[in-house]
Amino acid sequence: MEKENIDKVIKILGETYPNAECELNFKSPYELLVATILSAQCTDKRVNVVTGELFKKYNTPEKMVGLTEEELGEKIRSCGFYKNKSKNILETSKSIIMEHSGEVPRTMEQLINLPGVGRKTANVVLSNAFSVPAIAVDTHVFRVSNRIGIAHGNTPEQVEQELMANIPKDMWSITHHYLIWHGRNICKARKPDCEICPIAPYCKYYLENVSNI
Ligand code: SF4
Repeated sequence: MEKENIDKVIKILGETYPNAECELNFKSPYELLVATILSAQCTDKRVNVVTGELFKKYNTPEKMVGLTEEELGEKIRSCGFYKNKSKNILETSKSIIMEHSGEVPRTMEQLINLPGVGRKTANVVLSNAFSVPAIAVDTHVFRVSNRIGIAHGNTPEQVEQELMANIPKDMWSITHHYLIWHGRNICKARKPDCEICPIAPYCKYYLENVSNI
């Protein structure tokens, strides 16, 4: 897609979702890191319910490691994959205490070395907790970017690289939110609502598959 049209798409998405922001509740980088680990294959709404209780007592790595894997697993069970998530949260918490003086690290390199933390989680933390420009490619960002044609990639890493190349750096983080909100509200996984989509005139999927039906 031409740069001019990419800029138009971002502008329209900004007008459509003026309140787009991270929907996970958090009060510290550590809380956001834990919430993002819990959000894999789970809705932000469910995560917020679980962390609303969990963080009342266990909102720092030092407090979290006071729980056993089984105890934490019970508290986060409704988020799904609770055994893995519990293990990763506890190992990551220990690593933050031992290797980072109890503070969530601020670089991609350090974040992805934490157990269970991949690029997507690291980018969410970097952009939302530390205001570092970043584009976290989750399932919505991946699908919507490819459909619109503002990135083409078979892997989240490819899509992340293309989005970073095609979008001005100061718009990376907010565009990530626009794409998630668009994916949740209109460009849904099973059936995109192209008929009501404000960016349809610029969308590759629409132009190739819908407009000429
Ligand atoms: S036109 Fe359809 S496929 Fe394209 S972004 Fe809108 S909803 Fe998604």
